[in-house]
Amino acid sequence: MDREQFRAAAHSAIDDIINYFDTVPERRVLPAVDPGYLRPLIPENPPTEAESWAQIQEDVDSKIKPGLTHWQSPNFMAYYPANVTYPSILGEMYSAAFTAPAFNWLCSPACTELETIVMDWVARALGLPECFLSTSKNLGGGVIQNSASDAIATMMVAARERRVREMVLAEGHKEGTTEYEERKMDLQPRLVAIASDQTHSSAAKGALIAGTRFRSVMTGLEHNMEMTASRLRKVLEKCDRDGLTPYHLTMTFGTTNTCSVDRFAEIKAVLQEKPAWQRIWVHVDAAYAGASLVADEWQYIAKDFAEGVDSFNMNMHKWLLVNFDASVLFVRNRLDLTNALDINPTYMRNPYSDMGTVIDYRNWSISLGRRFRALKIWFVMRSYGLNGMKAHIRKTIELGNVFAELVRGRSDLFEIVTKPAFGLTVFRIKNPQASRESSAAICPKDEVADGITKKVYELINSRGEIFITSTVIDGVYVIRVVSANPMAEEKYVRNAFNIIVRTTDEVLQQK
Ligand code: PLP
Repeated sequence: MDREQFRAAAHSAIDDIINYFDTVPERRVLPAVDPGYLRPLIPENPPTEAESWAQIQEDVDSKIKPGLTHWQSPNFMAYYPANVTYPSILGEMYSAAFTAPAFNWLCSPACTELETIVMDWVARALGLPECFLSTSKNLGGGVIQNSASDAIATMMVAARERRVREMVLAEGHKEGTTEYEERKMDLQPRLVAIASDQTHSSAAKGALIAGTRFRSVMTGLEHNMEMTASRLRKVLEKCDRDGLTPYHLTMTFGTTNTCSVDRFAEIKAVLQEKPAWQRIWVHVDAAYAGASLVADEWQYIAKDFAEGVDSFNMNMHKWLLVNFDASVLFVRNRLDLTNALDINPTYMRNPYSDMGTVIDYRNWSISLGRRFRALKIWFVMRSYGLNGMKAHIRKTIELGNVFAELVRGRSDLFEIVTKPAFGLTVFRIKNPQASRESSAAICPKDEVADGITKKVYELINSRGEIFITSTVIDGVYVIRVVSANPMAEEKYVRNAFNIIVRTTDEVLQQK
């Protein structure tokens, strides 16, 4: 493709993308295809001769679009959203054009420096404490990771290295000696990462990658699925009894199932109870709900991170208008990361890195090469301004409130199971036969209600008008609805509610 062909193809692709966004609300949100639909449509072998852009684009239309789940549709109310916006797409275009696997400063100084500046912008926009800024005295700073899972696994490796190093040095072994290495390897398997049973599975995966153990703290509906101090203390004490060393704790700000928020203040107080517990690396996973911090009324939550929190991650690619991947991670002390991950082969050495006057982000993440993702964050923050970003968050939280109110208004049919939060409503269909007394407990287990809720959920998704998700919390089958992508609007939320009511009536009549 030469420059003129690129010009024409790019114009045509942009027109097509705009048209896609314009028409996405009318499309069936879930595709009507069966597994394996694509293979018969695509030749077995790559083409021998060059094909035209027109041919390729035609195949996007006829073969790819029918197999898409439309995450940008306002009828998409499943999982958590995956936002994309025009300025973000422009950022991707420039990032591709300036491609450089910018593993160190010298590879592309603008790439590194913009990332540092933009991460400080994000930290300020979220009202994060000063300690997470790159300009802080404590050597904090932010880095863009591929995903929350990468961020969490990276933190666990850094936490493991910090803890084991402290323990081995305390025993009097000198770094670099065989005894030091042997002791480090002896201690590592006794380390335990802790998180609640509502924490995203990436915490357990991170512990696996870090080669350590993992223990869950039980939650329950009586505490709105939040991790509490007393339940955490039990797990810590059990680790002590078993001769295990807790080294990493994930606190979640907006769990995947219900968007519950762990009780940060009381948890941090528990960690002060014993010297060994004070050494635990505390990470806040705010993958989805952390985006709410751009709105002033939620920033009080971030005040809890000023002390006793080592790191914080948030996916701008969920709810904050930047497309996948834009997972921002902030650390209180960058040396904790670079001490763990800095491996400096000769072929990467250069005067700037050697002098320590520049940031080499390869030492802040698992991958070496990295994309120029700061551009799209920069473009979005400038195109929307903080006020535009706040407006998006407030509007979509309000849509969640509208939906929750509608559900409450039909208490004959529905029961809200956890506190609606950050746009997410979690509810179940009531068992029409359930006695009134049983409702004294918070959402008592009820197999009939589970069965009806599951049927309603499956019927709705099989029809593809809207897409919602279900889950099981504390033994209760529930439906989750969250409408927080840039196209979300009240009329779609009301339509979704009407579909749910209609389908519930239909299922109840079949009983
Ligand atoms: N943490 C939470 C709270 C999540 O909800 C999710 C995904 O939904 C993740 C982590 C994992 O995110 P990622 O896909 O960026 O790894």
